[in-house]
Amino acid sequence: MRALIIEDEAKTAAYLRQGLSENGFTVEVCTNGEDGLHQALTVENDLIIIDVMLPERDGWSILAALRKAGIQTPVLFLTARDTVYDKVKGLELGADDYLVKPFDFAELLARVRTILRRGPARQAEILRVADLQLDLPRRKASRAGVRLDLTAKEFALLELLVRRQGEPLSRTLIAEQVWDVNFDSDSNVLEVAIRRLRSKVDDPFPKKLIHTVRGVGYVLEERPE
Ligand code: CA
Repeated sequence: MRALIIEDEAKTAAYLRQGLSENGFTVEVCTNGEDGLHQALTVENDLIIIDVMLPERDGWSILAALRKAGIQTPVLFLTARDTVYDKVKGLELGADDYLVKPFDFAELLARVRTILRRGPARQAEILRVADLQLDLPRRKASRAGVRLDLTAKEFALLELLVRRQGEPLSRTLIAEQVWDVNFDSDSNVLEVAIRRLRSKVDDPFPKKLIHTVRGVGYVLEERPE
């Protein structure tokens, strides 16, 4: 089991690292919010413990970014403030549980075990990039509140691009993930599909989200004007 701890207080971080290591976790500690988010986005973890107050980026914003990216790793929040506001905010953003400092390690471990026992975390149901929104259970997409009329294939292609937003995806990877095949190198099936997707997702809107990455493939991301 891999645990990521994002906590700037050295004492608490060391205490958590030791306790979790003794209980069979491989533990990584990040001491600021940016590093923590980067680590959480790039390495697969079984559990993430996030302190609310962090330098560079607070715990809430880390959690929001993770859930937005579709990462459903269980998250336990730590906070020094025992307020209903904090608790509700954390849970609304998709935290799995919440502990107020100072806490007893046995209590933390019990919470961790409960979270992990719940099994695979629930899937994010709504994915968003800028004003683009994908409702996964209903297979519906919209931009700026306007419904996009997509075929099942186009939705699958868009879902892949959104789930991996900011990451240039190769033609091969897209073909394998969306069509479950590897196209011949001279096939233009993907180019045609992207063109059709752009005509629905980007052409009617001033801000373009799907970008060509020369020599690689495509990336979906919100770029500054
Ligand atoms: Ca802190």
